[in-house]
Amino acid sequence: MIGASALEVRAIPPRKTGEFCGFTDAVQILQSTVPYSGPVRLTCPMAAGLYLWEREVVAPAAEKHLGSRVVRVDHLGTYSCRRIGGGTTGRPSEHATANAIDIAGFRLEDGRRITLASDWSDGSDAERAFLRAVRDGACDLFRVVLGPDYNAAHRDHFHFDMGRFGTCR
Ligand SMILES: [Zn+2]
Repeated sequence: MIGASALEVRAIPPRKTGEFCGFTDAVQILQSTVPYSGPVRLTCPMAAGLYLWEREVVAPAAEKHLGSRVVRVDHLGTYSCRRIGGGTTGRPSEHATANAIDIAGFRLEDGRRITLASDWSDGSDAERAFLRAVRDGACDLFRVVLGPDYNAAHRDHFHFDMGRFGTCR
């Protein structure tokens, strides 16, 4: 493939920010096959999974279903010191160790913007097929994949993580 971008990352110094928050093996993605809407700081396994997802899942699905190229991935965050559900009790979120990312949508080369919030249910057949294809493909690369089919809290994003529990919904 001509012009295939390589994954370039920079190691981030380990951080401990509380009882269950922080990371020891995180990187910042400097360059990948497609730009992101904001900084991407993740554990190495997550960064590697994301790169494969862009290259092996998102790019072919965009070509097949939308006839265009993804030029930007919109995300809602990676590292965040919190518990699952955002409450004061319960299991720490994988976000608390930079081991997760929330994906909200995609910008295409032809100008279209595809979001989970508006297109998972109400998009065109092609847009809905694209979103399901990138969800299903993610299930082969990440331990946990949650989206609108999982619960209302995920109606506007896909959550990917490399935690201990395997889920794909
Ligand atoms: Zn998440």
